[in-house]
Parts: sequence; structure tokens; C-alpha cells
Amino acid sequence: MGGTFDPIHHGHLVAASEVQARFDLDEVVFVPTGQPWQKADQEVTTAEHRYLMTVIATASNPRFTVSRVDIERPGTTYTIDTLRDLRRERPDDELFFITGADALAQILTWKDHDELWDLAHFVGVTRPGHELSDKGLPTDKISLQEVPAMAISSTACRDRVVAGQPVWYLVPDGVVQYINKYALYASEPGAAHHPT
Ligand code: ATP
Ligand code: MG
Repeated sequence: MGGTFDPIHHGHLVAASEVQARFDLDEVVFVPTGQPWQKADQEVTTAEHRYLMTVIATASNPRFTVSRVDIERPGTTYTIDTLRDLRRERPDDELFFITGADALAQILTWKDHDELWDLAHFVGVTRPGHELSDKGLPTDKISLQEVPAMAISSTACRDRVVAGQPVWYLVPDGVVQYINKYALYASEPGAAHHPT
């Protein structure tokens, strides 16, 4: 499962759990992006912080692991490179790439998108209000997975921290504490700082 995970939240975790159960996956590998090309114009939290929050959030699930392939590859993160690296590390495994339906809808704009289909089966998880416009996508290579209504996004979590609102129960407890420990998000320009 690829994502910026800035921060990882319960929407990501429920989505991963749903897809794991539906496809009976042995393992869900969370892959925090390096510099995501879709977010090149935004400030994204240091990869190491995002990686560690992802480790904290997934530690209790024996089927969840975290990969550093994207944060260790220099430059912009492209899904094709993520899948090639994972394929190299796990030549005998069947790969599924889990991502949001919003991201899947942009799939035709991805780098080397015609090669993606040979590397993995794609699972688009839908969040409330998002649907896949599947024109031109190879439907045998893509599944959609509805995730129980969870209108949680990382953007909303960051905005809540900036506004001094709690993110308890939107993100795992350890991630709340990690955000507070390193004062992530709260120090954005003009943000009120509310230590808790
Ligand atoms: P941001 O608000 O910064 O874009 P995000 O919440 O979308 O963050 P990402 O790290 O971009 O988080 O998410 C990785 C993938 O998980 C994306 O493809 C996204 O669509 C999907 N996703 C995010 N939130 C949810 C949710 N609540 N339910 C299901 N899927 C989600
Ligand atoms: Mg997003």
C-alpha cells in the first residue's frame, strides 16, 4: 500500500485490513513515498518521520510491514519504480498494489503506466464521495474495494493539529504521541501552538 502517510491514519489502516481480508493477503507492505510527484508543490514532512509513524501505526498487526524502498530511492517517487523494487525483492510473490480510488483514476497519467499491469493487480479503495471513472483502464487488472465510511484524510488531520483540535482516534494513539513529541504540523506559519 503506497501513500504519503503524512500522517498515517485509521482510514489507511482500515482500507489495508479490508483488502488483506478480501484477497487473503499474507502481508500488507506499507510503502511511504519519497517525494510524491503529485505533491511536488507542497511541503511534505520528512520521510523519516512519516516512515516512523507508519511503523508505529502498523507494529501491532503481524501481517503489516513497512518498506523503505521509496524513501531510499533518490528523487521523485513513481509507482512503477516502487513495484519494480518490490518485485526484485520478492521475485516469487504475487503483488497487489493498494491505493485510493482517487489515485487510480489518475493512473493513465502515471509514468510508464502501460507496464504497471504486468507487475501487480491494482486495488482501488474508495473513500466516501470518491468513485472510479474507469474509462480506458484494464478492468481485469483492477478491483475496487469499498471501505467502511471513514471520512478521514491526512490533510484533515494536519489541519486539526494546526487548529489545536484533537486527532485522537483518527490516528493510532502512538501516532498522536509522536506528532506531539516532535511538534509535527503545529509549527506551520501562522499556526496556533497548543501543546497537549
Ligand atoms: P492527503 O490528505 O495528504 O492527500 P491522504 O489521507 O489522502 O492524504 P495519502 O497518504 O495520500 O493520504 O493516502 C494514500 C492512499 O490512501 C491514497 O490513495 C488515498 O486515496 C487513500 N486513502 C486516504 N484516506 C483514506 C480513507 N479514509 N479511506 C480509504 N482510503 C483512503
Ligand atoms: Mg491523498
